[in-house]
Amino acid sequence: MNELRKDPLLNRWVAVMKDSKPLDYYLSTVSNKGKAKRENSCALCAGREKETPQAIFTLGNGETPLGQIGWKTRVIPWLNYVFQIEGDLGRRAVGMYDRMNSVGANEIIIESPKHNEYPEDMGLQQMRYVLKTYRHRLVDLEKDHRLRYTFICKDTSVASQGTEAHAHSKVLCPPVIPKGIKDELDGAKEFFYYKERCIFCDMITEELNLGRRVILESRDFVAFVPYAPKTPFECWIVPKRHECVYQNISDYEIEDLAMTLGTVLRKIRKAFVNAPYYYVIHSAPNRIPRKDYWHTIGEDYHWHIEIVPKIKEPTGFEIESDFYVLHTSPEDAAKIIQEVR
Ligand SMILES: [Zn+2]
Ligand SMILES: [Zn+2]
Ligand SMILES: [Zn+2]
Repeated sequence: MNELRKDPLLNRWVAVMKDSKPLDYYLSTVSNKGKAKRENSCALCAGREKETPQAIFTLGNGETPLGQIGWKTRVIPWLNYVFQIEGDLGRRAVGMYDRMNSVGANEIIIESPKHNEYPEDMGLQQMRYVLKTYRHRLVDLEKDHRLRYTFICKDTSVASQGTEAHAHSKVLCPPVIPKGIKDELDGAKEFFYYKERCIFCDMITEELNLGRRVILESRDFVAFVPYAPKTPFECWIVPKRHECVYQNISDYEIEDLAMTLGTVLRKIRKAFVNAPYYYVIHSAPNRIPRKDYWHTIGEDYHWHIEIVPKIKEPTGFEIESDFYVLHTSPEDAAKIIQEVR
């Protein structure tokens, strides 16, 4: 099994692959038939369900006769990636260091039976299916008390061929809270400690009052460029209703989110002529019982989606210093995205 090691200086966990070799930097196809080159070699397409591992969850019908579309979304295990679902955590010290087994979940959410489908083009109904599938996975994975966080991410930049090009999102569920997430949770908790208000609710009020960084306001959501993002043109979509976990989103809110997310992604794609992007759902961690630890999280944290167009690689200085340089102000960035029709 892979192992997780904790950097004792920075309190950051890393996964160390047991049989790592250079080829592992490439995600092999799910069917393990070698590197996929063409669309017809993609096992995630409708009609080829038997070539993938058994689905964990399917929205709509199960199998599809070749050439017909039966299911709406499917979730399959992402085999042989970082985490392994069976086993215990085996947390222990190795001299002065901490390690544990890489127990967790990796899954692939197949967003559509069709191969080349961007979220912004798939239509509102299909987008709602995808958003409901996200909700299902968060509800389901929270039940496993070994897992601490459910990370749902869509990244269009990873590859452009084979299964990697099929419309999909990834789910990663580590048994620890990743440092980047913990920093955000701690920041929200600290703000709440001093002000007794949710920082995200305050941000919504502030952004709507000012208006200069708002991309769009829908019935249930506000999309804006944050005041001090890491990369220019980063956009957040925040629900107006205070809620710490995505899994409590209603069907009614999903309808509105499908429209909001689709519109923002379409604007970003148009503004940057098909530049890749990723988006990630930031939701509260799996709240396993831990004395006095997350007792205010229901009030201090507020789920949201962060969208990052990949138009600029961070420099070595930025990565190492965590000090970022924006060549476009967030106000100008919001105006540019907002004006795309
Ligand atoms: Zn495909
Ligand atoms: Zn809030
Ligand atoms: Zn966030």
